[in-house]
Amino acid sequence: NDAPVFAPAMSPKEGAEAATALFREVFEAEPDGVWYAPGRVNIIGEHTDYNGGLALPIALPHRAHLALRRRDDRTVRLVSPQTREKVDVMNLDTIGPKGTPGEVAHWAAYIAGVAWALERDGFEDLPGFDAALVSCVPLGGGLSSSAALECSAAVAIDEVAGLGLAGTPEEPDDAGRARLVTNCVRTENEMAGAPTGGMDQSASLRCREGHALELDCRDGSVAHVPFDLAAEDLALLVIDTKAKHSLDDGQYGARRAACERAAQFLGVELLADIAIEDLPQALERLSSADDADELVKRTRHVVTEIDRTRRLVDLLQDGRPLRGEKLAEVGRLMDASHESLRVDYECTCPELDVAVEAARAAGAHGARMTGGGFGGSAIALVDAKAVRAVAAAVAQAYEREGFNPPAFLDAVPAAPAGRLP
Ligand code: ADP
Ligand code: MG
Repeated sequence: NDAPVFAPAMSPKEGAEAATALFREVFEAEPDGVWYAPGRVNIIGEHTDYNGGLALPIALPHRAHLALRRRDDRTVRLVSPQTREKVDVMNLDTIGPKGTPGEVAHWAAYIAGVAWALERDGFEDLPGFDAALVSCVPLGGGLSSSAALECSAAVAIDEVAGLGLAGTPEEPDDAGRARLVTNCVRTENEMAGAPTGGMDQSASLRCREGHALELDCRDGSVAHVPFDLAAEDLALLVIDTKAKHSLDDGQYGARRAACERAAQFLGVELLADIAIEDLPQALERLSSADDADELVKRTRHVVTEIDRTRRLVDLLQDGRPLRGEKLAEVGRLMDASHESLRVDYECTCPELDVAVEAARAAGAHGARMTGGGFGGSAIALVDAKAVRAVAAAVAQAYEREGFNPPAFLDAVPAAPAGRLP
């Protein structure tokens, strides 16, 4: 009786209309335009970004939409449906990083902070703006609702201030977008105080429709890997566990710190410097460290995960249809990624483990947690016609376990941030 609940993406038209209507209602004026930026989901390559490894995200059709109008002064005013009653007002001359007197509260930091970061990157005296945000990226679900905010602000400011960095979604300026990524990461790290790597913002700004983004996190270089699921009658089911095991309780930082200690012990700059062939010797050496058990496990995850990511990219690029043995191998790589994150990186949780087990039992070709872990979302690669059945099986497993009902998304590799027509 209880059909699984899918979180639909707003169409571009719906997004533009909703953001414009909110803008008109609150600011009693016409916006200059509506810009958007997508959330993302990572296919494979988890906890590799801060180790200089590979990740493989896609942009989601779920987006943050920002109706924005340039101002002649340095004031920024922001509103969202959740905060309709109270417009956030700040000034670009006085805002500053978290923990300083200019600290910006809540979500406004992710938007106004981008102007702050761009000014520190040499784009001085940016204009203020009024903006209305309407986002359908699930909040805190590991799908990067935060990067969607930053990147929508980045492309909007880029255009109204004439920075000329972004190009268009059809003809993106990738080097310019990489610079916007850097500024959005700085916003998240310094203005919002979240120590995340660059995968989320790269996905939102640099992905291509129908493709996954192979991101080399050492130098920020990218390649666009064909991942046209619909053409293969496949779908990527995202399972938002709704579980909240916050990364703020130090787990994320503890994993990063362990990776740094392991790299230092091995005399390399980053764990990505260890080739898969050299992993056995590296683990042997780590076994004499004080915290050998932890360092061995974390290193084994990172190095094998980078190898799995490279292998999955090679498969997707070989030009053969994603069927039969190739599809089975992609599924095995996803499954192995989850096992590595569960056993060696110890960043899954019961909700994530149950989601992937139930999805596999219901016929998924492969399934894994995605994002930072400790809650958030899982993904399952399934036949397009089986999406609802797999979702129903996961929902039933959650009910059996007494978990809160999960939410589902149908993920399609979508376009990067840009301006709506
Ligand atoms: P994730 O990026 O995985 O969704 P984060 O904790 O990084 O989770 O970002 C969530 C934060 O982003 C929220 O706490 C809020 O400050 C901000 N945010 C995202 N989407 C919205 C929205 N639609 N309205 C207001 N704030 C939002
Ligand atoms: Mg985030």
